[in-house]
Amino acid sequence: MSLRARLTVLNMVIVGGILLLFGTTLYLTFRFVLNNQVNHTLETASYAISQALRIDQRGSLVMDTEPKLDPANEVYYQVWGRDGLLKYASQKQPAGNEHLDFVNLGPNLSITRDVNLAGIRLRVLSVSLSGSGTNRPVGVLQVGVSLVMTESILQTLLAILLVGATVAVSVAGLAGWFSISQALKPLDLVTETALQITRADDLSRRIPYHGSPGDEVGQLILAFNQTLSRLENLFNSQRRFLTDVGHELRTPLTVIKGNVDLMRRMNSMDDESMDSIENEVDRLTRMVSDLLLLAQAESGKIPLVWRTVELDTLVLEVMQQMRVLARDRLSLRLDEIDQVLVCGDQDRLKQVLLNLIGNAIKYTPTGGEVVVGLGKANQQARITVADTGPGIPEEDRPYIFERFYRGEKSRTRSKDGKGFGLGLSIAYWIVKNHKGMIEVSPNQPHGTTFCVWLPLADGPCPDEIISG
Ligand code: ADP
Repeated sequence: MSLRARLTVLNMVIVGGILLLFGTTLYLTFRFVLNNQVNHTLETASYAISQALRIDQRGSLVMDTEPKLDPANEVYYQVWGRDGLLKYASQKQPAGNEHLDFVNLGPNLSITRDVNLAGIRLRVLSVSLSGSGTNRPVGVLQVGVSLVMTESILQTLLAILLVGATVAVSVAGLAGWFSISQALKPLDLVTETALQITRADDLSRRIPYHGSPGDEVGQLILAFNQTLSRLENLFNSQRRFLTDVGHELRTPLTVIKGNVDLMRRMNSMDDESMDSIENEVDRLTRMVSDLLLLAQAESGKIPLVWRTVELDTLVLEVMQQMRVLARDRLSLRLDEIDQVLVCGDQDRLKQVLLNLIGNAIKYTPTGGEVVVGLGKANQQARITVADTGPGIPEEDRPYIFERFYRGEKSRTRSKDGKGFGLGLSIAYWIVKNHKGMIEVSPNQPHGTTFCVWLPLADGPCPDEIISG
């Protein structure tokens, strides 16, 4: 059953339930009031007739004057003597001289019963009459009131309630169906757009909504559109990633193929070509292992061996290795160094330093300077790598931590055959998984400073392997 149908049925059941409760209460109240009214009429009439009766010396019932009965009510009465004969009766009788009700009453007793007499529904009160102060019965008084009016009022009320309830439930069903359909209409749009997106394979579409963005449907559409944006970004980055990998693979493979062709044509092993092939293969191997590392990192499969790391010792070690790269082309120096302990994976943190200092050396022209610093600030370890290179243009800065992102200048310079645009993504991932932060800022007048923040070790670190 559709949601629309279920909500409509629920709506009808609720309205029907309320009407049933209301109708039953109304009907019972009416019946109670009307019954009370009939009983009251019977009692008043019976009292008036008893007042008009007296017992003579022979112990017989005598009625001197007509009893005063309310003319608004049609009341029948019969006074039966001790001998079982009808002594007095109202002028109008439903069935001649027949008993209003056939009862056998004991002394001083009374009974009220609903009877059917000659096709007329009556309520009859029968009272045993006795002399004052004695229990000796002298006769029976029977008073009857027609129930035709009462029953017809109740039947009419029941019919009105039934017809009214049926109409109300049908109207509630129709109105519910219409309003629910209106409310669910935007959902049809969501379904339609989702199907169009699937059919056309077009994630750039968004669902338009002209209602209030704060209502339930608005919120649903907002969430759906956000999911679409996220999916679109993911697909785009996947597409970009494949294109980038393709480009990166093509250059070294072209170089290798060119050199192999050359050697085949010359029919000799050329040392220069072999070196070039070896360089390209090294480059490819580095790229593939970087890619694997990133892929593993993103799927959370890289184990981080957690232990206490002396950052100062690590910085000095990396500086030592990097001096070979800097040679006398530029100056690589240590600015400030503090004793700093953090908890983390020593090898991965070393990789961060190698990537940052390696980039600074790579991008800084001959004669420039790379300054490394280690200190503490705001209860955190702070590593800085500043250079006097060309700096990173403002438009590139938001993207440099993305996979394969390389600034325009770096791309044109990639003839040095070293960068793939993966180093900073790897550094970013490692720092993030150490609950730290990596940021970049421009130097004045030129150059770049990378700053890495890591939480200080506050006590011994647990020796454990954490999957990143
Ligand atoms: P690459 O292998 O290209 O160096 P990275 O991920 O390490 O890749 O860096 C991404 C981009 O950030 C580089 O292509 C470069 O444009 C820019 N970059 C990184 N470090 C520096 C730096 N110290 N000076 C100038 N540009 C930098």
